Amino acid sequence: WKHAPAHFRALLEGSRLHGEQVFLTYEDENLTYEEHFRRAATLAHRLVAEYGVAKGDRVAIAMRNYPEWVVAFSAALAAGAVAVPLNAWWTAQELEFGVSDSGAKVVIADAERAERLAGRAPLIVVRGEAPEGARPFEEVLGEVAADVTLPEVEVSPEDPATIFYTSGTTGRPKGALGSHRNLGQSPMTVAYGMMRSLARAGKDPAEAAGRRRVTLLTVPLFHVTGCFAVMTTTMFTGGGLVLMYRWDAGRALELIERERITTLSGVPTNVWQLLAHPDLGRYDISSLTSLGYGGAPAPPKLLERITERLPSRAPSNGYGMTETTALAIYNSGPDYLAKPDSIGLPMPVVEVRIADPLGGELPAGEVGELCLRGPNVILGYWNRPEATAETFVDGWLHTGDMARVDAEGFVYIVDRAKDMVIRGGENVYCAEVEAALFEHPAVDDVAVIGVPHEELGEEVGAVVRLSSPATPEELQAFLRERIAAFKIPVRFWVRDDELPRNPGGKILKTHLRREVLGA
Ligand code: ATP
Ligand code: MG
Repeated sequence: WKHAPAHFRALLEGSRLHGEQVFLTYEDENLTYEEHFRRAATLAHRLVAEYGVAKGDRVAIAMRNYPEWVVAFSAALAAGAVAVPLNAWWTAQELEFGVSDSGAKVVIADAERAERLAGRAPLIVVRGEAPEGARPFEEVLGEVAADVTLPEVEVSPEDPATIFYTSGTTGRPKGALGSHRNLGQSPMTVAYGMMRSLARAGKDPAEAAGRRRVTLLTVPLFHVTGCFAVMTTTMFTGGGLVLMYRWDAGRALELIERERITTLSGVPTNVWQLLAHPDLGRYDISSLTSLGYGGAPAPPKLLERITERLPSRAPSNGYGMTETTALAIYNSGPDYLAKPDSIGLPMPVVEVRIADPLGGELPAGEVGELCLRGPNVILGYWNRPEATAETFVDGWLHTGDMARVDAEGFVYIVDRAKDMVIRGGENVYCAEVEAALFEHPAVDDVAVIGVPHEELGEEVGAVVRLSSPATPEELQAFLRERIAAFKIPVRFWVRDDELPRNPGGKILKTHLRREVLGA
């Protein structure tokens, strides 16, 4: 393997080995590996020649999951620039924040995003009208030559490659600055992890490696799950990637049948909705062999439902953060069935430590902050020295997640540190209360939140979505058999619509708290 991906340019060069195989599928369009390479290399030259993009300059991408997203990403990196994927769900104001925070020299956007950004940055526009002053993508690209090569630029593995904004679950999104090494390492990390899982499950990794994977991407490319856990990993292994404009469970079923999808990769909500779809039994989805999800807590009922409705599909749960270039800890196969509440074992390149509040290391079994170290941990936050110093201490990333490790090294997320309710000095882990409520047959979805209380500081409250009627009293009685009295929600809000989630599948608790408490 000549092109060991120490950085992205090597990965991109290496992807030509898969030349005529289809890389990207969107609706009726297919782009082969060779076509993708040529378009990306050509665009890289244009960015340098026509926009003056030099090493380290930022190139932002603001669009839905179109094939051009991947071409733009590859082109920016091939030019030695830093790719800045912006959240396509962002409003004009938020997009403007992304452009100015990153100091992007040029933005490659789809028509809808371009509209929101008109006049605020030089724009290259895909699929649709270019606003005044912006240029159409195909025009900038021009002729794509068969013998195009990557522009000459010296890139070392430690050079910055990407700025991905964190999901903003706990505050304003932070720009996570990833290096070429982080990026080049991530598909190998995933591949290592998959091989180890197969070996642990008693299967032959070589046989699995020989099978071509076609993955349905159900999440946005602008988060690390979509970009790294799925897209660059696909590029590395020569598989196919089927893109969707937006997630839709019914459409996903159609695509699984039509494209003979082998792997579905996304957030737990995607799989949950697929399983709940009334047409599940009407499609031929026999090609589907694995269901991977992560990026957000997987409801305990999910695994049960998979076993019940889609038996013999291998489910897996991956834990990762923007700061860990996606996957860091992974549970699958017999391990996952034996320990369904664990996020699994650290990837072979990742070290885990559980820290007490002063940073000391805690022994197995005790709950503390999960800290991670490894070649997948990013350089720091873009333009945020204080946040960087707080989060990255002596090479260890402080995740902000409370966790414990068992004697065999399996990691369990207990809660997010910022999600804990502190009731009269007693810590209540929302995730634990949510898991207990999920066990009730009528509960379809739930979010536990802190409710201000004069005497206790905070009380426990729960927003629940029910599939059949149940009163708060019934739910409380149900919980009394499972968790301590002080953890039982005293206030309930029952609703029948979906709880608000971000594209990463996480419940927007700040938003929800404002909605139900008006504060
Ligand atoms: P911000 O840092 O801006 O507040 P965020 O932490 O939600 O937002 P991401 O980097 O997208 O941004 O998400 C990482 C977090 O997602 C982790 O810290 C963890 O809380 C959660 N998470 C990811 N994967 C899993 C998983 N498999 N199980 C449970 N939680 C997970
Ligand atoms: Mg975070």
